Order: sequence, then C-alpha cells, then structure tokens
Amino acid sequence: MIIKTDKSEFENYLSDAANIYGICEKVFLAETKEEAATLIKEANKNKIQITISASRTGLTGGSVPENGILISTEKLNKIISLDETNKLIEVEPGVLLSDLQNYVEAKNLFYPPDPTETNSSIGGNVATNASGSRTFKYGPTRNYVEELEIILPTGKELTLKRGENYFSDFDGIITFNDNSQLKIPIPNYIMPSVKHAAGYYAKPNMDFIDLFIGAEGTLGLITKVKLKLIDLPKQILSMIVFFESEENTFSFVNEIKQKCKIGESKIDLREIEFFDENSLNLLKSDFPNIPLYTKGAVWIEQELENNEEEVLDELIEIININNGNSENIWFALDENERKKMKLFRHSIALKVNDIISARGLKKVRTDNAVPDEKIYGVLQIYLQFNQTK
Ligand SMILES: Cc1cc2nc3c(=O)[nH]c(=O)nc-3n(C[C@H](O)[C@H](O)[C@H](O)COP(=O)(O)OP(=O)(O)OC[C@H]3O[C@@H](n4cnc5c(N)ncnc54)[C@H](O)[C@@H]3O)c2cc1C
Repeated sequence: MIIKTDKSEFENYLSDAANIYGICEKVFLAETKEEAATLIKEANKNKIQITISASRTGLTGGSVPENGILISTEKLNKIISLDETNKLIEVEPGVLLSDLQNYVEAKNLFYPPDPTETNSSIGGNVATNASGSRTFKYGPTRNYVEELEIILPTGKELTLKRGENYFSDFDGIITFNDNSQLKIPIPNYIMPSVKHAAGYYAKPNMDFIDLFIGAEGTLGLITKVKLKLIDLPKQILSMIVFFESEENTFSFVNEIKQKCKIGESKIDLREIEFFDENSLNLLKSDFPNIPLYTKGAVWIEQELENNEEEVLDELIEIININNGNSENIWFALDENERKKMKLFRHSIALKVNDIISARGLKKVRTDNAVPDEKIYGVLQIYLQFNQTK
C-alpha cells in the first residue's frame, strides 16, 4: 500500500471537479481489498473519519475529505473476469470507464452508461449512480449493477447479488459475509418518479443492492463490481442539428421525443442532448464551424438496424418542419467522427470547469428534472436570470 503523509505529496487529492477543497492527515492508496479492510477497521476503532476517493472527477465534493484520512481506489484497478456467454464483467472499483469500454467493445460487447467523463472510475460511477448521454434509452448505472462487494464503515464485508435480498417494506436484515446480521431501516420518503440523484435510494421492498448505488461512498467502500453488458450495436448514427431560434430547437426536441414514445416511428434515439446559445458560444473557439446565427443545437444518436434510410428520412422531415439548419447538419457514422461529437458535448462541461477554476469559484453541478412541457419555460427563467446578472 502506498501511504502519502506529506501534504505536498497529496495536495491533488484534496479537491474534485467541483473545485471544492478539503483537508486530511494522510492518503492511503490501497492495493488490495484486504489492505482497505484493515485500514477501515483501524479507522473505525480509532474514530477517524474516512473519505473514499477514486478519479476525483465528481461534481459534488463527495471525494473531498473534510478531515481524517483519505482512501484512494486508484490502485484497485484490475478487470477480474469477463463472462462473454452471460455478458457479465467483474472489475475492481478503480478501473477507468474508458478501460472498461475499450475492453468490452473489443469483444463485441457494450456497457451502455456513459457519463462522458471516461477518466472516471467504475466505483465512482456506481457510487454516484452516474447517468449521462445514453441514459435516454438505457437508464443510469444502477440498471447495470448485478453484484457489489462492499466493506462497511465498521470493517464488515458484504456481498450483494441483485435479486437475492430485499427489504420488507422499509426494513431489512443484512447478512454479512461472516454470517453476522444487522437490522437496517431505510428512509420512508417517496422518491420522485423522474431521474434524480438526491438522497439515498429508498423504495418499499427494494433490492438491498440499490441502497449502495448512488450512496456517494457514505455507506462503505465498494471493492468489487459485477456489471451487465449488452451486445455491441453494429451501426450508430450520430448527428448535431443547429437552429436559429430557441423555439424551434425545443419544438424539435419535443417532437422527436414524442416519436420515440410511439411505436410506428423508426426513430428510437439512444441519446438527445440540447445546447443553448451560451454553451455554443463557449465552444466557438474550438469549433469555428458552428454555423452563424445559431441559437440552439441538438445532438442525437440512434443505433441502426439496416434502416438507415428510413431513419434519416424521418429525421430530415422533422428537422425541416422545425426550421432546422438543413444546410449544415453534422453527421457521424464512424467511430472517429462520433468521438469528435462526443468531445463537442464534453467540452462544454470542461470549459465551464475552467471558468469556475479561473474565477476561484466552486461548482456543485446537478441534473435538474422538469416535465417535458415545462423545459422551455424553465430555460426562459434561467435566461432572464442571466440577463439580470
Ligand atoms: C466533464 C464531466 C462531465 C460529466 N457528465 C456527467 C453526466 O453527463 N452524467 C452524470 O451522471 N455524471 C456526469 N459527470 C460526473 C461523473 O459521473 C462523476 O464524475 C464520476 O462518476 C465520478 O467518478 P470518479 O471515479 O471520478 O469518483 P470520485 O469523484 O473520486 O468520487 C465520487 C464519489 O464516489 C465515491 N466513491 C468513489 N469510489 C468509490 C468506491 N469504490 N466505493 C464507494 N464510494 C466511492 C466518492 O466517495 C465520492 O462520493 C461528469 C463529470 C465531469 C467531470
């Protein structure tokens, strides 16, 4: 295990992408699960606060220590096994999302969650229940977590397989790996039905495993993750459409989302992301070919099944109806072109992070959920607020 005791050696472990800074006494880079378990037991015995950190790309300060010690999972980074037949992969928590994606895609398999920050770790993705660009079709990380191995703050070890242990209403008895048991209640609040990341996940009669997904490291250290995979899609259409008015951008978004809901359409997007004028202005220096007079843009992706022409015909029709800039649509059909589009999207978050850092500000970023019909109204409120600043 690597131990960093001098602040000058661990300065970079004291902040995350939210630009929140903290303090701690020591940083431990555990190289085995056993080392991590010993550390946690010792800290528990001596009442020392523990913060878990991985790639520190988080946007909420969750990996930033306020005191005590920091345990980094970056050395717990092995891909343990791949079961190609059952499409399951088992990894240590510090494996990077990019490494997992490359590994499974080389075997024609696919891991759908994609928070776009590919330097983030799988443990971090599980602990934040990361969603991202493909959530529209595939949902968040939670949907792919089949098994977790966790060391609780007491040092007790727990293995949870999806489908094996359920709460009874809001109460449950957890059995640890040493067969000891603990009765635990979960909060009995009603969670919103839309995508959200607030608070502990708690539903009556839910699977135990769901409590630990999205818990931001507050309930224990995840030491092993088994994830579900799917077949690698054969062909993907990716495109960015530009609009000269916000109204048109939103009517396009609404119409295309409606199409995805009804069965008779060939449109079945896996992602749809909106960029407002301010976001596009941030990108103009890196992407000078953004068309002039653009007020909004939408990035969409769809997996194709020998239906490229029908999908494109339908899309072009909706673009035209909503006055999209049909002269300047960006298309990507191969992996390299798609990567450029992904970079386009990812660059906005990076640019905002740079501005925040340069101004010495903190940024706690969350995804807000609003009903479809209210999105445009909410954007108007944000824009008015922006103008009064
Ligand atoms: C540019 C950018 C774009 C992003 N876009 C999206 C997006 O579109 N959608 C989205 O959902 N997210 C997005 N994110 C956030 C992303 O999901 C998180 O940054 C990432 O999941 C955190 O992983 P990490 O390895 O960096 O974890 P860290 O930042 O190191 O830690 C994050 C949290 O997880 C906990 N944790 C880490 N590892 C473990 C473990 N093994 N056991 C228990 N707890 C652990 C930490 O204590 C902390 O609370 C984006 C981030 C960036 C920087």
